[in-house]
Amino acid sequence: MAAKTPKGSRARLRAYLLSHIGRVLDSDELREASGNASEWGRRVRERRTEEGYQILTHNDRSDLKPGQYLLVDPKPIPAFERGISKETRAYVLDRNGFTCQMCGAVAGEPHPSDLTRKTRLHIGHIVDKSMGGSDDPSNLRAICSVCNEGARNLTLDRPSLQKLLIQVRRATGADQVEVLRWLVRKFPKEAEKRLKKVAPIS
Ligand SMILES: [Zn+2]
Repeated sequence: MAAKTPKGSRARLRAYLLSHIGRVLDSDELREASGNASEWGRRVRERRTEEGYQILTHNDRSDLKPGQYLLVDPKPIPAFERGISKETRAYVLDRNGFTCQMCGAVAGEPHPSDLTRKTRLHIGHIVDKSMGGSDDPSNLRAICSVCNEGARNLTLDRPSLQKLLIQVRRATGADQVEVLRWLVRKFPKEAEKRLKKVAPIS
């Protein structure tokens, strides 16, 4: 008999799920894996709601029976997009043609900046939540993990200044503000200096 270790049940369940990717697990198995924690079911759901692991149940897939669980992807959904429903995610990805709206990388294809890496798409906010942006689909877009990390490989061709300015001028106001925010964060002193003598574009 496994000892009752409710304290360690979270870590035990996480480890068990991660070592059984792609295998359908049933209630008895997970209860035992949790160390027979009395609230093991809740602990399983928390791995999904708190840690972002996409643990599927019969509510997600018709081939799963009630009481069966399946983890197909070892990578959890990042915290910033956990509040976004599956329906909204699917809608935004479809609307954006499963293409990163920053670099054009396509989901599942090798990433243009690192051909050994498969493109994974996330849902990103156009106007950041900290700036009052909502989870409404109109404020969401598909962003690949590379652009999301802000760590694009510099071997990609750099755009010329002229092309870059054209792109920025054609972008939506919200995206231009996003560019501004990024630049101000990157060059705070320069931004302060410039702000004193800048004349607004009418
Ligand atoms: Zn990208």
